[in-house]
Amino acid sequence: MRIHHLNCVSTCPLGGKLMDGRTESIIRRGHLACHCLLVETESGLVLVDTGLGLQDVRHPRERLSAFFLGLVAPDFREEMTAVRQVERLGFDPRDVKHIVMSHLDFDHAGGLDDFPDATVHLLDVERDYAFEQRTWMDRQRFRPQQWSTRARWIVYPANSGETWFGFDRVRPLEGVADSIAMIPLIGHTHGHCGVAVNRGDKWLLLAADAYFYYAEMDIVRPRCTPGLRFYQWMLEKDRKARLWNQRRLRQLRRAHGNEVELFCSHDLREFERLSGRSARLPTAAVASARSRHGAPLGVAT
Ligand SMILES: [Zn+2]
Repeated sequence: MRIHHLNCVSTCPLGGKLMDGRTESIIRRGHLACHCLLVETESGLVLVDTGLGLQDVRHPRERLSAFFLGLVAPDFREEMTAVRQVERLGFDPRDVKHIVMSHLDFDHAGGLDDFPDATVHLLDVERDYAFEQRTWMDRQRFRPQQWSTRARWIVYPANSGETWFGFDRVRPLEGVADSIAMIPLIGHTHGHCGVAVNRGDKWLLLAADAYFYYAEMDIVRPRCTPGLRFYQWMLEKDRKARLWNQRRLRQLRRAHGNEVELFCSHDLREFERLSGRSARLPTAAVASARSRHGAPLGVAT
């Protein structure tokens, strides 16, 4: 089973170094990834999270909130969207049969509209809570403009009685290979999940927004930049559950670090280590991929 790491449109938050810990100053904007996975399975392609999509790139002010556009200024480049990277890999977007969603924040759900034929899997509470649009912040982060495919969403309760390394596991996901597991990690939102993918030699666990900064998972001295600590506090729905899940993820790394590769959606270092390329680049085009004009696409790395 091949697994591709895709950064589906970076964000550039205010606060620079205070956020990502590696931009030179706090005056410049920082750089965060939006780490998605494309998994080749026997029953078709499975996309894990979608990042920002084509319509967000083309019509940001109609689809996204002014609040978040100002705060995180996405690096809107069409070539970074999931659909364009799927094409670069030589696939047809219709080959994406399933999308497994960590949660419905705008920077994860923007690409849903680019895969109208895919079945989308998420937790029931995540959908219900996003649909309610209860608070001002909910209306900024959960964007109905991105949900044209909602008739194709399948929702699940968080607790199915199954477990994965001691965590609850949602099972079965209808039509999705058993090597892909939805792992509820509540806190950032009420229906937030990690997604685990069995690579053969080990599991990859995309913990999505359960944490934001690689060093939060440091077993000896967990730490976070002040900016990302603030950002997580601002967006958390259940603080107690969020911090509890962070502790459990550190325990998982300590006890099963050889069997599980843990990473989050927005940390650049983790993205670059796992993808083997700069987060500013789309995935390398495969040799067989052709542009619309029939010329081979250049290899990006
Ligand atoms: Zn996010």
